[in-house]
This record gives sequence, structure tokens and C-alpha cells, in this order.
Amino acid sequence: MLSGIQPTAGSFHLGNYLGALRQWVDLQDSAEAFYCVVDLHAITVAQDPAELRRNTLTSAAQLLALGVDPSRSALFVQSHVPEHAQLGWVMQCLTGFGEAGRMTQFKDKSQRQGAANTTVGLFTYPILQVADILLYQAARVPVGEDQRQHLELTRDLAVRFNGRFGETFTVPEVFIPPGAAKVLDLQTPEKQMSKSLPGAGCVFLLDEPKVTAKKIRSAVTDTGREVVADAANKPGITNLLTIHSALSGRTVAQLEQDFDGRGYGDLKKELAEVVTEFVAPVQQRTHELLDDRAELERTLAEGAARAREVAAGTLAQVYDRVGFLPPA
Ligand code: ATP
Ligand code: MG
Repeated sequence: MLSGIQPTAGSFHLGNYLGALRQWVDLQDSAEAFYCVVDLHAITVAQDPAELRRNTLTSAAQLLALGVDPSRSALFVQSHVPEHAQLGWVMQCLTGFGEAGRMTQFKDKSQRQGAANTTVGLFTYPILQVADILLYQAARVPVGEDQRQHLELTRDLAVRFNGRFGETFTVPEVFIPPGAAKVLDLQTPEKQMSKSLPGAGCVFLLDEPKVTAKKIRSAVTDTGREVVADAANKPGITNLLTIHSALSGRTVAQLEQDFDGRGYGDLKKELAEVVTEFVAPVQQRTHELLDDRAELERTLAEGAARAREVAAGTLAQVYDRVGFLPPA
């Protein structure tokens, strides 16, 4: 299994955790996992070099703090494994221009960037993602719904390569983990919580408890007063219940019962406590890991070495199959 996440400025948010990273932690029990911080993908949009380096370390520290276990899973930084870029090139040469142009994520992202800031790297990044996955012969790739099209491209290219050059790649299954929650923005509960939305609707894992409590207190709700889940008419309250349930382990039905006769204020107050209790140890652990940078770098080096063992084998086979002359 393979999954990756971009190094983000500051920290990951509740949506990243409940929609993706928690599944990374859980899935370690059932498969050999390769998890990477995808810094090659990060530079598809402009980055400050010092910040990118810092964000890469902070992202890795958070993944460990959340429960990625380096004794079971390979946790590494994408640029430490050069085979990603190398296989990416080969796969680009198998992809039709029109085929790449149909990726809706590119359309969205390039629109956000504006024409002047849209790079060729942003256009071809889905193909680098294809390489990320195929290098490890991943059978399952846990992703959110927004990544389904890229997974289909991965399958198409794997089948194409296998057909043209002989069986080489495992064709991966799209795997949308059942426990993944979709978290909505606290200020705009019609949209997914996202670091790019303006306003204070995104709860970051490394936010100060006071900031978290304030964001939850100011969450947009409807004018009613009953704490019941109703996605169509009460998206704000439903979202708060979803987050509470995901972190506390109590079902939404139980929560509705507990809050029967109590108001939105009580729900927000309790949710702030639930979130703070969850993030406090994660924050502490993240800071401890960042304080011992040498140890953190060692962990990432070990992860990269494990990843390279597999990646180098796949790449050697690919180079041979496409007809590259082996170096003497
Ligand atoms: P951006 O605004 O740049 O798109 P983001 O905050 O949406 O950033 P991503 O980097 O796009 O975060 O997402 C990282 C992972 O977290 C992906 O697997 C994505 O599916 C998941 N994810 C992001 N936001 C949410 C959310 N609100 N609910 C559930 N999962 C989410
Ligand atoms: Mg996103």
C-alpha cells in the first residue's frame, strides 16, 4: 500500500486527519505500507526553499505523532527516492497529451494559480503520482473521492505498460476507506474544510487550544436550536456532530440523545474539549520529535532506504523492458 501527502505550511488540519491520515495509521495493521511526504509534488507551485524544508520536517513529525509507526511502515521523503522522478519520466512518455488534459484537478488547480503561474509540472503531476504508486507495486491506494480520476489514470497506464512491454506492474485498486469522514469548513459548511479557504473555518492540528476553541465557538450554524444531524438543512451542526463522533467514538445517534434539550453552545463547548484533548498529545509529540532533528532525519533515512529497495527493483525492470542500455 502506498499513500502520500504534501508537506503543508503550518500543520495538517482535522479534515486531513479524519479523511486520510487516520486511515494511514489504521491500515498499517493489514498491509505493508509506504507513506511519503511528497515534496516533488509541492514544487508544482512556487515554494520558499527554507519553508519547504521546514514544512517537510514538520509534516513528517506530525505523521509520526499521529501514529505512523516506522518499525512497521516505511515513512520517507519523496525526493530521497530518486526513482519517483525517474519512473515519472517513463510514464509521461506513455501518456497522451489529451489524456493528461482531462484531469479535472489540473483544471481546478490551474484556475486557482492563474495562467501565469501554471507550470508544466502542475500539468504532469498526476503522472508523477502514477509513478509514486506503481514503483511499490501497490495493490491498494487509500484516497479520497477527489483522487479517483488519478487512480483511474494509474490503472490505465499500468495496463498499457504491461500490454506493451510485458507484465511489470500490479494494477492497483481504488480504495476509499470506509471510516474516512468528510469534514466541512466551520465557516462555510457547504465546502470541504481546506487550508486554502479564507477565514477561520479550518482547525489545524497545531493550533493553540484557545484558537481551536474560538474557531469552534464561532462555527456557523443555523437558526434552529435542536442538536440533530441533518446534512441538507443543518450542515453546520451535522459537521460538528461528525467531528465529535469521529474523535470521541460516540455515535451521532448517541450524541443527539446526550444533547437532547441542550443548545448549540453546549455542543460547541464539549467539542472544543474533545478536539483539544485529541490534539494536545499530538502537539507535544510533534514538538518532541522536531526537537531531536537528527533522530527524525535518521527515521526518514531508514524509511527511504526501505523504499529504495523496492523502488530500485521496479525501476531496473522498467528500464530493461523499455530498452535502455544497462550501464556497463
Ligand atoms: P488544498 O486546499 O491545497 O487542496 P487541503 O487542505 O484540501 O489542501 P489536501 O492536501 O488537498 O488538503 O489533502 C490531503 C489529504 O487530506 C487528501 O487525502 C484529502 O482527500 C484529505 N482531505 C483534505 N481535506 C479534507 C476534508 N475536509 N475532509 C476529509 N478529507 C480531507
Ligand atoms: Mg484539497
